[in-house]
Amino acid sequence: MSNFTVQHSLADLGAPFSEPCNPTPVAAPQWLAFNAELAAELCLPQQYWHSDDGLAVFSGNTVPDWASPLAHAYAGHQFGHFVPQLGDGRALLLAEVLSADNQRFDIQLKGAGQTPFSRRGDGRAPLGPVLREYLVSEAMHALGVPTTRALAAVLTGDWVQRETAEPGAILTRVASSHIRIGSFQYLAARGDHAQLKTFADYVINRHYPECASEANPYLALLAAVVAAQAKLIAKWMSMGFIHGVMNTDNMSIAGETIDYGPCAFMDSFNPAQVYSFIDTQGRYAWGNQPRIASWNLARFAETLLPLLTEQPEQAVELATAVLQDFNGLNEAEFLHLMAAKIGIVTATDTDEVLIRDLLNLMSANNADFSQSFRLLSHSVSDINAGAAVLFADKQGWTSWAKKWQQRLATQGIALIKVSQQMDNTNPALIARNHLVAEAIKQATEQADLTLFNRLQQALAKPYTLSDANADFALPPQPQQLVKNTFCGT
Ligand code: AMP
Ligand code: MG
Repeated sequence: MSNFTVQHSLADLGAPFSEPCNPTPVAAPQWLAFNAELAAELCLPQQYWHSDDGLAVFSGNTVPDWASPLAHAYAGHQFGHFVPQLGDGRALLLAEVLSADNQRFDIQLKGAGQTPFSRRGDGRAPLGPVLREYLVSEAMHALGVPTTRALAAVLTGDWVQRETAEPGAILTRVASSHIRIGSFQYLAARGDHAQLKTFADYVINRHYPECASEANPYLALLAAVVAAQAKLIAKWMSMGFIHGVMNTDNMSIAGETIDYGPCAFMDSFNPAQVYSFIDTQGRYAWGNQPRIASWNLARFAETLLPLLTEQPEQAVELATAVLQDFNGLNEAEFLHLMAAKIGIVTATDTDEVLIRDLLNLMSANNADFSQSFRLLSHSVSDINAGAAVLFADKQGWTSWAKKWQQRLATQGIALIKVSQQMDNTNPALIARNHLVAEAIKQATEQADLTLFNRLQQALAKPYTLSDANADFALPPQPQQLVKNTFCGT
């Protein structure tokens, strides 16, 4: 294994971007999960692999000599309302490390105690949200969606008081960085342009180095983040994923999915679907995600205005033009991804209609999102097979399926190949809400990790369905349906 290489670039920037802060020790740590595959990618020394040394570090009981723990400062619009100071209230960056292929990653503890940004929070995380983030973030990674990852999960041996007392836990999160739109908003709200510039230069150097040589590096940074987010949201939507809390403090500058709170994969398709019980207005519904991402990016653009040009009006013009690219980029990516889901290699404008018609048919028939696409590969040459069972409206299905088969025929690709390609595109297994909820329940109420472990293993190979995992592919029975998910606070 190559060398474990540690950096502290954010710590080196100092205040006001972060504040040094040590984790608070816990009573009696125990392992819940350790991600050996990720540990290998990060060249983490074997000393820490599922060992007592690792448990001490990932519970916050020991600060290893390679760590320089800090809490990052950020602000954010939460459900549209600006909060000038949020920050890492229950998370601590331990260190940045270089992976085997020389990429830089943050290693962060989530739930390791209070920080200067905790406000009235306890800095802790209950077991349920930790297991949820572990399962769902790793499932997203296996689906090829840019995301933060989970390196470790441990029980603390302490209780965390929420509505009831819950076992405390800590997640070790890995990300290409934890810098958010809110990080820029924090600096902009302080009104110090020199600090803002320092930070923007840091982010360009860290995430988008190609922007440095552009005529206007900060405008190029905006364009790069717009493009990354446009693609990310299209990916979410093509998987039936609802983030649930797209506040600007939860939108990563690197374009990764971050903050797995009330997130969920949809069961039956409904574009207005929301799972978060606090999202009463449907602000973060499945179909609203592009609009919200675009709104969030406008907040990001506002922070950059003083760096774009000295002329305020011209700065707004420049930023507006870049922001306007979001919809086109997002729609093109969504079309490309959705076309692939129905076996179309090169999407055309008329395919957009075909896709919309299918989505409408799915929502009118309450068809399960993932099953609709997964079973479609069995319908390529027989419209009465595969996905047909999901549509009570037989006429609607037949009429759509005929048009679709005609379209597939124009490609000149053998249908068996099309069908295989579809099975590699449409997951058989997603982190279904009712399964995640049941795994959390068994872990919390009976200290039983069997279902959590089974799910974790199955979701690592989402395109392969084995007999042993067949039950995980099924949509929930009405009595199993989970209608609400809760924030990880
Ligand atoms: P989130 O809803 O997870 O995006 O968190 C929003 C803000 O609340 C962030 O600044 C968090 O650090 C902070 N926060 C959430 N839960 C806690 C907690 N238990 N203790 C301290 N701060 C918290
Ligand atoms: Mg957050």
